[in-house]
Amino acid sequence: MATTAAPALRFTRVPHPAPAAADVRAQVLANPGFGTKFSDHMVSIDWSESEGWHNAQILPYGPIALDPAAAVLHYAQEIFEGLKAYRLADGGIALFRPEANAARFNASARRLAMAEIPEDLFIAAVEQLVLTDQDWFPTVEGGSLYLRPFMFASEAFLGVRPAKAYRFMVIASPAGNYFKSGSPAVSIWVSDYTRAAPGGTGAAKCGGNYAASLVPTAEAFARGHDQVLFLDAADHKWIEELGGMNLFFAFDDGSIVTPPLGGTILPGITRESLIALAREEGLTVREERYSLDQWRADAASGKLVETFACGTAAVVTPVGKVADHNGEFTIGSGGPGQLTQKLRQRLVSIQRGEAADTHGWVKKIA
Ligand SMILES: *Cc1c(COP(=O)(O)O)cnc(C)c1O
Repeated sequence: MATTAAPALRFTRVPHPAPAAADVRAQVLANPGFGTKFSDHMVSIDWSESEGWHNAQILPYGPIALDPAAAVLHYAQEIFEGLKAYRLADGGIALFRPEANAARFNASARRLAMAEIPEDLFIAAVEQLVLTDQDWFPTVEGGSLYLRPFMFASEAFLGVRPAKAYRFMVIASPAGNYFKSGSPAVSIWVSDYTRAAPGGTGAAKCGGNYAASLVPTAEAFARGHDQVLFLDAADHKWIEELGGMNLFFAFDDGSIVTPPLGGTILPGITRESLIALAREEGLTVREERYSLDQWRADAASGKLVETFACGTAAVVTPVGKVADHNGEFTIGSGGPGQLTQKLRQRLVSIQRGEAADTHGWVKKIA
């Protein structure tokens, strides 16, 4: 579906009539958790075939009315993004690579046959919300304001075809640490289920992919693990990714491997950034297939020294243990490895404006 050229859209503002009281907000910001508390406002923009993008609004955060026949409720025509705003040491605010999120959002839109949104409108919507709710940055170490842009088919129509009306929204949630367990390294269950098959929607950030991952995720939790890992659909042999994070494997010769993007893996922005940072550190990074059997063997021989997962929400998370029906194995010491911690620190310090941003990744908005 074609992008509608956006005449610069002006946002209508409806301030919250009763924003959270300062003491209530302070309590949330001192212990934000992840994804359960939301700021006072939200962005909403509509698209229709006849009007293109219109009705850009900053509204009080709250429930939305949907026609029960809205296509998203029946055929899951929905996509989303996740990015963070950081409070810098000088009091300013910055986003990390928001153009990359905008571009990926439109790639997801194309795969789900949805309207594309002009990248500058996507970024303006995110910035407007952050500026409106800039009192919502967590006060805890490592905190950020997590932003969730999303879009769904709002047309009331039960026939099966791409909808002719969409709503784009952005909500903001103060975020502390993603993993609630204090465990510094996560334990992973290798699922028998498949997340994505060639030709499917694995490279699109869509709710449908997550819906299909919930049974495997619940199974991983029930078995006492933190995360689920998916293998490839064809051979059930090659490592793909976790439910919502990409994976990296570090070897004793200083090289790193990450599974190649081939349509079944979500092209993570954290993944891409870490590849660049690791290469700057002088490490050899290979995007190539790596099997579960090889992983197990390399962990046992000591050739594999570290494994970590990465994504916007959790940044970089060490993998300590891996289990499937054949048993369990431990990565390195079972705790966070040195390279994992170094790369995490490199990335976080750039995101927070504490290290030089030589890639132009940090976009200051205030
Ligand atoms: C969002 C997501 C990631 C991580 O992408 P980032 O851009 O690094 O946040 C990885 N896998 C899946 C399935 C995702 O949805």
